[in-house]
Amino acid sequence: MNRRSLLWTIAPPMFAILAVAIALVTGFTGRSVRTYFLTRTAADLHNQARLTIGEFAPLVASHATAAIQAQCRSFGAVSGVRFTVIAADGTVLGDSQGDPRAMENHAGRPEVAAALSGQPGRADRFSATVGNRRLYVAVPAPGDPVPFVVRTSVSLADLNDLIGSINRRIVVAGLALLLIAGVAVLLFSRSAGMSLRRLREAAEKLADGDFGVDLDVGGPSEIIAVGEAMQHMAGRLQEQLETIAAERNELQAVMSSMVEGVLAVDCDEVVFGLNNSGARMLGVEVRAAMGRTIQEVGRNPRLTALVQEVLADSRTHECDIHLTIPGERWVQVHGTPLLSADGALLGGLLVLNDITRLRRLENMRRDFVANVSHELKTPITAIRGFSETLLEDPPDDEQERRRFLSIIIAQADRLEAIISDLLDLSRLEQETDQGTLERTPTSLAPLLERVVQDARDSRSTAEGRIDLACPADLTADVNPRLVAQAVGNLLANALKYSPQDSPVTLACRREGDQVLIAVTDRGPGIAAEHLPRLCERFYRVDKARSRQLGGTGLGLAIVKHIAQAHGGRLDIRSEPGKGSTFTLILPAEVPA
Ligand code: ADP
Repeated sequence: MNRRSLLWTIAPPMFAILAVAIALVTGFTGRSVRTYFLTRTAADLHNQARLTIGEFAPLVASHATAAIQAQCRSFGAVSGVRFTVIAADGTVLGDSQGDPRAMENHAGRPEVAAALSGQPGRADRFSATVGNRRLYVAVPAPGDPVPFVVRTSVSLADLNDLIGSINRRIVVAGLALLLIAGVAVLLFSRSAGMSLRRLREAAEKLADGDFGVDLDVGGPSEIIAVGEAMQHMAGRLQEQLETIAAERNELQAVMSSMVEGVLAVDCDEVVFGLNNSGARMLGVEVRAAMGRTIQEVGRNPRLTALVQEVLADSRTHECDIHLTIPGERWVQVHGTPLLSADGALLGGLLVLNDITRLRRLENMRRDFVANVSHELKTPITAIRGFSETLLEDPPDDEQERRRFLSIIIAQADRLEAIISDLLDLSRLEQETDQGTLERTPTSLAPLLERVVQDARDSRSTAEGRIDLACPADLTADVNPRLVAQAVGNLLANALKYSPQDSPVTLACRREGDQVLIAVTDRGPGIAAEHLPRLCERFYRVDKARSRQLGGTGLGLAIVKHIAQAHGGRLDIRSEPGKGSTFTLILPAEVPA
């Protein structure tokens, strides 16, 4: 666009208007002066001619040509006007400024022709006789036909000089006016220009976010009013921006504290919103993800397909995706269309739920059911097999029949042991979940002595192997039945898995606000790779040996749960070939 300064916008039209005004004034004035002057001069000439008719009449009647000529010169000398006397036939009888004999017949001159016809005549033309432009007035002498005509005339050079001098003054005055107007325009445009420049600079600062800018720019009132309006606008704008920023911060705070991942894409599948949880689940940086496509950010064909489905039919879609980066995880994705207030599709919104734990639990439950079924199936198959044999084809030998029956009883015991351990576990889980575990301040030494005694009673091989070390005054807020069960399990394992004559130590001590109950044996120990899974249900290092020893594979799972129900844990240290130490670590007092 063609940019012009304020000065160049105002000055040319203003100067043009002034110039036209001066030209019009000059023209009108010239015409008026000319008309007035001609009218007045013609009236004077008419009077002078009329006054002299009486003087010339006897001279014309007597044909006194010389006297007429003398009279003309005399009048002309006195008045400065040219006098010409013309006979009825147009012959010039006398002229104050020429020789009548040398002058041609004047009957054809318009003013003379008019006078000869009885009316005063007037004309304005160049005179060949005197060599200048003149105004002529011819007046007829009374009589019919007109006996002669007296014509008076003056030069128009003076008139033109007068009009010229008036016009010159008007032009000089106009030029002075033009100069004053130019200076005024210059000063105005400079003052308004400075105010407008200050306004522009202030607006630029405003655009850069500087709302503290002063918009009192001075200058003409209209510009001051614009500045005030802009100041008001800046205030409103600042308020609105602050509101928007506050709302955005609140939204961001909500988004970033959400456990669910949130991801927004536009209609071109380009990511324009992602919260921290979403970035964590997808293994990307929030900033790096912005402006990139869902293919690049999600790196998962199912996720991309879900976004495309949502954008294609503007409906809600759902799927579970399996991600391997940064770690293996399962994410449930809920995709909904993002719609504007008038229903136009703006993109899609994905809500991501990390269901890895849920999936793992599901898997664990499935494994557990399979394990339980398997564990129960073995004794049931044995019981069924031996019972059928006894029923359908009983051995003749009494001893053999007894052996069969004792196997059935042993398998039934095994079933009972498994079911009782499972019930213990489920009860424990319930108590842990509901937080209903009962605790009482318990003196540990008598409790552990009872456990040792029970072990000795139930296991003949235990005799003389267990060494108990527990300070008599050691107490803890525990559930004595469960702690006894846990220590009993550990003690049973130590006795079971270590050689029959090797010692087992049961030691108890207080460390800070914890009580440590450690069972140490000098058995075969456990390889490091088994340690993390040792407390899983039905996990055994050597299945056949465990079964042979009457183990259910649930003992350590129960110990771990008892520890957790008390807010403690089970620590396992073992060195293959040297033995193991299982330490039950429990808080000594119930936390307030
Ligand atoms: P189980 O009924 O089979 O003993 P547990 O849960 O008590 O089941 O123990 C799980 C497995 O841990 C056992 O099968 C055994 O392989 C191993 N284990 C437990 N205690 C000991 C120990 N003191 N010495 C060696 N191995 C042990």
